[in-house]
Amino acid sequence: MSWFRRSKSETPAEPSAEPRPPESAGAPANAKNQGATEPKRGGLGALFRQGLKRTSEVLRTDVRDLVIRKKGQLVDEWLDELYAILIRSDMGTGPANEIREHIQREFRGRVVEFPELQAAVKQKFRELLGENEGKIQRAANGPTVILGVGVNGSGKTTSIAKLANRFKNEGNRVVLGAGDTFRAGAIEQLTIWAERLGIEIVKGQPGGDPASVAHRAVARALETNADICIIDTAGRLQTQVNLMEQLKKIRRVISRQIPEAPHEVLLVLDATAGQNGLSQAQGFSEAAGCTGIVLAKLDGTAKGGVIIPICQRFKLPVKFIGVGESLDDLADFQVDAFVDGLF
Ligand code: GDP
Ligand code: MG
Repeated sequence: MSWFRRSKSETPAEPSAEPRPPESAGAPANAKNQGATEPKRGGLGALFRQGLKRTSEVLRTDVRDLVIRKKGQLVDEWLDELYAILIRSDMGTGPANEIREHIQREFRGRVVEFPELQAAVKQKFRELLGENEGKIQRAANGPTVILGVGVNGSGKTTSIAKLANRFKNEGNRVVLGAGDTFRAGAIEQLTIWAERLGIEIVKGQPGGDPASVAHRAVARALETNADICIIDTAGRLQTQVNLMEQLKKIRRVISRQIPEAPHEVLLVLDATAGQNGLSQAQGFSEAAGCTGIVLAKLDGTAKGGVIIPICQRFKLPVKFIGVGESLDDLADFQVDAFVDGLF
């Protein structure tokens, strides 16, 4: 199924005459430098490599330097330095320790060459990430309803636009719901993406009831025999409790229209947000009954190792990774390609 691959770009160069939504650098911010960025074609591996460039530069360079510096010395003598490098990729102490112990077992009392060390570390990455690749759960018939949730600024609206683009390119009819009614800019931002993609969007008034928007979006998807309905949600309200209640209400309303819906609730995480950002996201994961993760902004960090603690902490499959601001910068998460890109 082509869904497992990144579909070839059918998106024209982003129009630069498009209006800019006020609150979001989001939608068209990247329009002008589109052509200037390195082409990201060449398949999934290339997309991962591009997105993980910063992390892999750090890992590869530092580990290679270490091996060169310690030439002739036994691995046991420099394991702590390897550990420190792994920690710098943000994978957390547990996983870094596991790798250190693994390397010690494998290479105890030996002089190690870079390629064999690299292969052993990569193998351990693969094990730590496990079966962690997902695909979208589709409805047996009728529209598949997907909810995007997460902290403000994490990349929800952009990721929803990227997903809509993917589904559309694969021949699906898509309806969007602008459920982040808390910020006027958010409605406008999604509207611009919808116009650019040529897909229908259901929206309400700023400050209006997001559950009503969700309801109308699903109703519209049913009415028009759409294949996919993706609903954006707020990342911030007056209080966290309000926000969580709102997410629950949206779920309730949707499930009255289609009992199995939402088929997916994707938690969008910002790979650059650090531990604090992840703590904030934990609440969403619980209140919204998340089914998978979209890890956005992996291109913007030298700490792509963060995916390992994310998998462990949220116990949700990482389904997609965001590797840039334009529509094509979304890759299906695949462990092997990811590990190759990482190191
Ligand atoms: P939301 O508040 O969660 O809806 O977040 P937005 O979708 O508005 O995104 C916030 C900012 O992050 C915008 O400037 C986006 O262009 C940017 N962004 C989103 N995803 C990515 C990504 O994968 N890579 C990069 N570099 N920027 C991203
Ligand atoms: Mg948004």
